[in-house]
Amino acid sequence: MQRVVIIGGGAIGSAIAYFILADRAFRGEVTVIERDPSYARASSALSASSIRQQFSTAINIEIGRFGIGFLREAGERLTVDGDAPDIGLTEPGYLFLASHAGASVLERSHGLQRALGVDVALLEPRELRSRFHWLATDGIALGSLGLSGEGWFDGYGLLQAFRRKARSLGARYLDASAAGFTTSRHRVTGVVLADGATLDCDVAVNAAGPWAAAVARWLGIDLPVRARRRCVFVFNCPTPVVPCPLVVDPSGVWFRPEGRGYICGVSPDPGSDPDDAPLDVDHTLFDEVIWPALAARVPAFEALRQTSAWAGYYEFNTFDQNGIVGFHPEWGNFALANGFSGHGIQQSPAVGRGIAELVVHGGYRTLDLSPLGFGRIAAGRPLTELAVV
Ligand SMILES: Cc1cc2nc3c(=O)[nH]c(=O)nc-3n(C[C@H](O)[C@H](O)[C@H](O)COP(=O)(O)OP(=O)(O)OC[C@H]3O[C@@H](n4cnc5c(N)ncnc54)[C@H](O)[C@@H]3O)c2cc1C
Repeated sequence: MQRVVIIGGGAIGSAIAYFILADRAFRGEVTVIERDPSYARASSALSASSIRQQFSTAINIEIGRFGIGFLREAGERLTVDGDAPDIGLTEPGYLFLASHAGASVLERSHGLQRALGVDVALLEPRELRSRFHWLATDGIALGSLGLSGEGWFDGYGLLQAFRRKARSLGARYLDASAAGFTTSRHRVTGVVLADGATLDCDVAVNAAGPWAAAVARWLGIDLPVRARRRCVFVFNCPTPVVPCPLVVDPSGVWFRPEGRGYICGVSPDPGSDPDDAPLDVDHTLFDEVIWPALAARVPAFEALRQTSAWAGYYEFNTFDQNGIVGFHPEWGNFALANGFSGHGIQQSPAVGRGIAELVVHGGYRTLDLSPLGFGRIAAGRPLTELAVV
């Protein structure tokens, strides 16, 4: 009988709870501690919720392949009492655009992506213009277009679907704040709540999203994950731009359709990207960086009208911008699922399944997620992902 306590009930924590309880070999109970069931500041509720296969590392590509398969079947797999959730998955692809300087990176990643079965095509500027009449290809040497398996979905809907299914399988969600651990001989024996109560456990999981470093610190672990604000701007355009994938410009500015309009964003310069910035929208980012880039890339966007905006936190891994997943090497019953740096919601199915395999079977059984283990941080060996948006 295993008692599993998960700190954080966002998409990652709820996916882990679901996959553990869906495994028939599991004997035990799962408690998810979530301090804000409204998810007002949770990344999973403030995400752009897009999914792609176009990464530069094999592990992220494999995770993306499982992710899209899972999302396609989410209605069926996460049905509760005959009620199938609709997560609104649509697959218009990602289009990464590169200047001459960046073209070789696209080519290198393309080789790996094709070897792993990704449905992706490299397109010259002429081919890009013929597919996307609205696109200006000035300064573009190459584009990489996902032909299937990439797009976007309702991230909050996925979080709620994981949560509801996990509860239907027996997960207990506790509206409480975790505040510390009890330990014995380098094992976590309990999770202490802010009201002083302790939940005894055999396994503790850190799924605290942007706040994961604070949880790790209770064990003296220095987790290189910081809350970094990212703003998303919503706009309309009088002239429809169709068909439109999620476009990533060489400037780093991205945009995609959302409902009848579009959303867009950009990561700020590292020099203006402090930890824990308040979740207020930085409008200068749109005026000074995003709008000029949009208007240059899509002439029709010169007439756009920005209508609203929001801000949320990336759980930014300052070491190598990749997830940190698996049991901690020194705290053998403390699992990490943190630091996804802008690609966490699409990775929630594979990470949920992976952590569940570690908990239930003592090792990975399907996809080996050990390249994402904490060991690389301890050893100072970054797993560098070149396609970070
Ligand atoms: C603007 C934006 C755009 C994004 N776009 C994409 C995208 O296109 N594709 C993609 O894959 N990913 C994207 N992401 C990233 C993705 O949303 C996150 O990686 C993912 O949602 C992380 O999920 P999580 O469950 O770890 O974190 P969260 O959803 O933040 O959940 C963590 C939960 O832990 C709880 N918690 C923390 N500490 C405690 C404690 N001590 N006690 C109790 N509860 C606690 C919090 O209340 C929170 O609900 C984006 C993120 C943002 C902000």
